[in-house]
Amino acid sequence: MTHKQATIAVRSGLNNDEQFGCVVPPITLSSTYNFTDFNQPRAHDYSRRGNPTRDMVQRALAELEGGAGAVMTSSGMSAIHLVCTVFLQPGDLLLAPHDCYGGSYRLFDSLSKRGAYRVKFIDQGDEQALQAALAEKPKLVLIETPSNPLLRVVDIAAICQAAHQAGALCVVDNTFMSPALQQPLLLGADLVVHSCTKYLNGHSDVVAGTVISKDAETATELAWWANNIGVTGAAFDSYLLLRGIRTLNPRIRQQQSNAEAIVAYLQQQPLVKKLYYPGLPENQGHEIACRQQKGFGAMLSFELDGDEATLRRFLSNLDLFTLAESLGGVESLISHAATMTHAGMAAEARAAAGISETLLRISVGIEDSEDLIASLEHAFQSAAKR
Ligand SMILES: *Cc1c(COP(=O)(O)O)cnc(C)c1O
Repeated sequence: MTHKQATIAVRSGLNNDEQFGCVVPPITLSSTYNFTDFNQPRAHDYSRRGNPTRDMVQRALAELEGGAGAVMTSSGMSAIHLVCTVFLQPGDLLLAPHDCYGGSYRLFDSLSKRGAYRVKFIDQGDEQALQAALAEKPKLVLIETPSNPLLRVVDIAAICQAAHQAGALCVVDNTFMSPALQQPLLLGADLVVHSCTKYLNGHSDVVAGTVISKDAETATELAWWANNIGVTGAAFDSYLLLRGIRTLNPRIRQQQSNAEAIVAYLQQQPLVKKLYYPGLPENQGHEIACRQQKGFGAMLSFELDGDEATLRRFLSNLDLFTLAESLGGVESLISHAATMTHAGMAAEARAAAGISETLLRISVGIEDSEDLIASLEHAFQSAAKR
């Protein structure tokens, strides 16, 4: 019998312990496993290649995305690097979004400069730009939606269809949504990657990643390469990640409901110049988001109306939103794109990308929404005073 996602998240891997009948599966930390006899290995021989705790979280990840198999990796970046290593050879072209995650941009840019593959960054929401780039016969197309920090949404099904017609494979970075809100494999993607550091683990205490594939053969190939280059995730991280996944659905539900309350508050706040949230009917990606997402998520960003002094007053009076990078944890975080996540970009490039110097991004947590709004109100009032 197939179960719904929330049930899978809670129950995957439970009650498998034969020694003590543990409900919660015990963690297996051993790096190595004995042979039962001469030339008689067991299912596991060495934990880089395979580890029972990692096996369990991999099964949960694959089931949540509707994939045939998953590899859990040491970070989101190693998951993305693994995909490029397996599918791109020197000369092959990778099509990536012009507003992709900064770490992905740096990885593609630096490796393409060393000849590992070629990369082209385009606005995948621009139909003509996409068709022109696909005419160059890319091997791999990376989609990332909603994007960071402006939450721009692109059409996964349409891009995958066009990419497949051009003979390319499609991988979706689903970090900002999590499988609870978006399942790219069901929309036509071949592969999904996550930074599990974010929503999947959800407690800001693990750095991990995953690659999930639609078909079993590719999953086996990915697992072979993950062991070969040594990017598989650690047992402790696997254990914590599986523990985090148990509460994925209620966390996201609360985060999203808090985000909606905050958006409603920010809409009538005079110091908010521009508000970016795909749930707003006037938002550029609203219509596509309604089609391909199960919800609008808990990430939002806004431009503060004022100068740097206003920004400083606002941030130093905001007690319930921690000034920090990353996202997806139970605690609310705020980040300033120009000096934090997008500091590596030149000011002109930021302006061209629509990232203003007063743009703030919020990752909404599961605190009480009234407290969160009161905290924002206090900070806006302090920012308005000179
Ligand atoms: C954080 C992030 C990554 C990188 O993941 P790490 O776990 O930090 O290596 C990749 N893509 C997106 C969209 C991210 O937010």
